Amino acid sequence: MAKKWKPALVHLSRALFAAAITAILAQFPFDYIESFTYDLRVRVTPPPTPSGHIETIVVDFATMKELGRAPSANDFRLVLEKLSHAGADTIISLINLSETVGSNDESRMLASTAIGIPRFMVALDDVPLEGEQDALKLPTPFEKVPAVSAPVPIDRNIFARDDVTRRMMLAYQGLPTMYPLIAARFRDDLKSKAISTNAAHETTGHESADGKSGYNSNDFRGVFDYLKSDQAFVKFAPTGTYQATSFLSILNGTIDTSRFKNKIVIIGRDIQTTSRDYVRTPFSRDIVAMTIVELAANSLETLIQNTAPKRAPDWINSVITGIISYFTVIVVLTATPTTGLLLLGSTLGMYFLISVLTLWLGGYWIGVAHPFIAIFICYYFFIPYRLIIENRRSWEYYQKNKLLTQVEELKTNFLSMMSHDLKTPIARIQGMADVVRGDSNPLSPRQKEAIDTLKRSSDELLEFVSGILSLGRIESKAIQLHMHSKDVNALVREVSAKLEYLARSKNIEVRTELEPLFSIRMDVDLIRQVLQNLIENAIKYSPEGSSILVTSEERDGHIVVQVADQGPGIPEDELPHIFMKFYRSRNAKGSSIKGSGLGLYLAKYFVELHKGRVSVDSTLGQGSTFTVELPTE
Ligand code: ADP
Repeated sequence: MAKKWKPALVHLSRALFAAAITAILAQFPFDYIESFTYDLRVRVTPPPTPSGHIETIVVDFATMKELGRAPSANDFRLVLEKLSHAGADTIISLINLSETVGSNDESRMLASTAIGIPRFMVALDDVPLEGEQDALKLPTPFEKVPAVSAPVPIDRNIFARDDVTRRMMLAYQGLPTMYPLIAARFRDDLKSKAISTNAAHETTGHESADGKSGYNSNDFRGVFDYLKSDQAFVKFAPTGTYQATSFLSILNGTIDTSRFKNKIVIIGRDIQTTSRDYVRTPFSRDIVAMTIVELAANSLETLIQNTAPKRAPDWINSVITGIISYFTVIVVLTATPTTGLLLLGSTLGMYFLISVLTLWLGGYWIGVAHPFIAIFICYYFFIPYRLIIENRRSWEYYQKNKLLTQVEELKTNFLSMMSHDLKTPIARIQGMADVVRGDSNPLSPRQKEAIDTLKRSSDELLEFVSGILSLGRIESKAIQLHMHSKDVNALVREVSAKLEYLARSKNIEVRTELEPLFSIRMDVDLIRQVLQNLIENAIKYSPEGSSILVTSEERDGHIVVQVADQGPGIPEDELPHIFMKFYRSRNAKGSSIKGSGLGLYLAKYFVELHKGRVSVDSTLGQGSTFTVELPTE
């Protein structure tokens, strides 16, 4: 019962951990990282195309150089008149007219020109509090010139705190700034609510507080509430998208002013004397990344095209963080380190790609900081845990392995010790049997048979003991090759002759077809043992009356000896095993044929010591052919 529930409990505990990480992370805003990745996304998404409703004019270096000073009240009056004649729809001056230089008369003339232009306004950075609307009023003689509020929000003490501008303010305490009011004129769905002919006065006078301005935050995408203000993110185009016209070229009339017809014209400064004329943007953190003229253009454009990026609600970000945490925990605990890293790396990459696509195609800003941090936390939390588990496991393996090696060593030592001690008594038995056989007193047939059996059994025993001794030498790596030149054919003949009595006892004919060969260098004892084993096996496993063919030839720099029999063959599933230590086939084990399962193992080992190869080809019921290849060099 407990076993059945275990996997479910494991999953549950992982899910709970993921949920806990999500809940803890949710307490931290990570605004800096979030905004940083947002900026990255903004940079890699295709920029928005301007609607063409906005033109910008700047007092630039050329203007200052040519005039030898800042433009005067007179200069402004001339420029405003030209723009008005050109049919500009709305003119916004980010330069405070009351700060222009000129005589009283000149200032008065500028003021009356400004007042006479419908939808001309001076935009100020101030945000008046309720009841303090007079703060926006310009000093005499400009008191009647419409002044509107156009603050520049900077993430200085709030949000990312990186001094970057990503937002605009649409309203404060319910009073709209110039952005939504002007943008509405260029939106088909809001035209009726748009700023009226003299709306600038309305906005400055704040008669609109009662709703006359027609501003409604629901008309604009992505508006959010922040400290009694309505804000929205600006959909930025890179700096330079709005190419500004030089103030000088209008003043001098060197430019065709018809381009300003029906446009929103924004006038400002670009002379890099104060950072107040500039903002940092998602595209660049340079202190003069973008003029506030271009920022105003971007802000208005965002509202005209209604494309403000919308931040996904917190619960969506939490769900994503939870899923990614859970996935990370599973990966860290189950995948191999390389696969795990690859999986988590590609998850990071894929999720960033998804966040880019949602921003690009849907205009949604989904949280990236929390899921990313969750991956790192889950990873670093579980890696030590996994390391401990794996360390313990490999320690256990190590201990087990050590024990096995010791047992193996003990076994080999014991076997070789025993075999060594057995050799002397066996030799003595064989010697005595020979003495009895060679005795001049004739033996009775029963005695002769007994002596023959004694001799055969002691031969078998000796062979077995020698095998064990060779094995011991192999395992203690004590085998040394004693190389001599020898003709393999001579060895084949020697071994065949030695085994003839065995073959004859089963009425088996051992034929040889030996191609004349050069002698090669080899350890004669070992190769003799190999050949003896193969021919003996052939005789042992073949039925009575069959025949065996031993051939030799030279082929491709190798001496190839083949032993082919007409025996039972070896089942295919056993072929890969017959060269293994102590392996005996099922048939051999079930029969009366004696053997240790060491012969082929030793044969293979000895041939490989000579850099040669042993192989077998066998068909069940038809016979087997063993092949030995020894290099001639
Ligand atoms: P064994 O002492 O059992 O002969 P070997 O290592 O010499 O051990 O051979 C391993 C097994 O391979 C044998 O048990 C036998 O099943 C099989 N085998 C070897 N030679 C032949 C053969 N000529 N014909 C059929 N089976 C053979």
